Amino acid sequence: MSRTIIVSNRLPTKVLRTDDSLTFQASEGGLATGLGSIYQQAGNVWVGWPGLFVEDATEEGYVREQLRQDSMEPVFLTEDEIRDYYEGFSNSTLWPTFHYFPQYATYEPAHWAAYVAVNEKFCQAVLAMAGPDDTIWVHDYQLLLLPAMLRAARPRATIGFFLHIPFPSYELIRVLPWARELVAGVLGADLIGFHTFGFMRHFLSSVSHLLGFTAHNGRLEVGQRTVLVDTFPMGIDYDRYAGAAASESARQHEASYRQVLGDMRVILSIDRLDYSKGIAERLRAFEQLLVRHPEWRGQVSLIMVVVPSRDQVAQYAALKEEIDELVGRINAAYRTMRWTPIHYFYRSFPLDELASLYRLAEVGLVTPMRDGMNLVAKEFVATKANDHGVLILSERAGAARELSDALIINPTDLDQLTAALHEALVMPADEQARRMRAMRRLVRQYDVFAWTNLFMSRLAYAKQQQLSLD
Ligand code: UDP
Repeated sequence: MSRTIIVSNRLPTKVLRTDDSLTFQASEGGLATGLGSIYQQAGNVWVGWPGLFVEDATEEGYVREQLRQDSMEPVFLTEDEIRDYYEGFSNSTLWPTFHYFPQYATYEPAHWAAYVAVNEKFCQAVLAMAGPDDTIWVHDYQLLLLPAMLRAARPRATIGFFLHIPFPSYELIRVLPWARELVAGVLGADLIGFHTFGFMRHFLSSVSHLLGFTAHNGRLEVGQRTVLVDTFPMGIDYDRYAGAAASESARQHEASYRQVLGDMRVILSIDRLDYSKGIAERLRAFEQLLVRHPEWRGQVSLIMVVVPSRDQVAQYAALKEEIDELVGRINAAYRTMRWTPIHYFYRSFPLDELASLYRLAEVGLVTPMRDGMNLVAKEFVATKANDHGVLILSERAGAARELSDALIINPTDLDQLTAALHEALVMPADEQARRMRAMRRLVRQYDVFAWTNLFMSRLAYAKQQQLSLD
């Protein structure tokens, strides 16, 4: 019987070292939930880094054994590998380039060498388990070379690849000295998936420019193989967020926040710390709202959650300082004894508290400069059971292609953003309901389980097509 192997940089379980013991913490992320139905089936497995530097062979053996009991296979990485492959090439070369921040990208041959070596390491880990006819689904930008490496060793395997971040214009990709290798790496797959049609189009244009293959109807002829390219906008676990928002615990949290806030109206902003998220621009827009519409002073607060991320990297540390400074300055300029303009949290929240913040907010403010999808936008919608609330969404988030009933804005257009904030605050209830209902229906229907099923069935179809051509 053939098995399905999921591969991603991180496993859905994180191993943590606390004093002298190890703890295993299951991830609550959307991908882990969505793929849970696959890798936990008998025989299937998820391959990835467990997030821990092991100290010796005994510890390595112990972690491996524990993870195997839950259908996971660890790839152990050294501190040097994490520095050069993950923080280096993945997060300091690919991430800024793919999010249209080439000025932040570094081009270090040593990072590239580590990226190749770690992709090879993942390849060996997968091959140790994969039979000739197995199905392998590779995820995201840390493993762009893996599909071709796997293909060379397992010509008959069914290989899928999904990119969770944007795929940029050829003009950005071509700047990378390793552009050809990266694109050729992905082409080892039978099916290549993106969140949006735009990302897919950019990918096909890069394939054509760099390798000379031209697509027809989402099909690329690569040597003897046909590669399918398609869009699969990722969803969330709708029931989980709708359920959390309806829970007693979320209601209690909301009630306790309300005691402090009174009847203050709430705009909500939630992101990981990242320059792609447009956090500073959002703060400037909120300030401009208070300047242009002084009637909102004392009436509206912005709750801003920034989840710490990559703060060892210089650009992230600088962004954190910029946000701290902006929040401090705006609050100092406008606050009164009974009104705090911005409630700023630099930490992460558990699901029930997050759900209560979503409930509390009338306006969800999601304004990334670039974002593959943006799940926060969909989670906000999923919690609005009463259809009350307005989503303001950047046209450059993948989610904007689906959530067209949001107030769609250009996040660099401060005037437009300010006007959208005002519009959201005065929007009549029936218009809010009409827009929110349409978005909620979509988010509920195309949830993460539908996404998984769609990709897997399309992958099976891609392979069938290959076989019928053989
Ligand atoms: N999130 C969280 N705790 C928090 C704030 C956010 O778990 O305190 C989650 C949020 O619910 C969402 C994810 O982090 O599922 C962020 O995903 P998104 O696609 O919006 O952005 P990414 O961080 O992947 O770029």
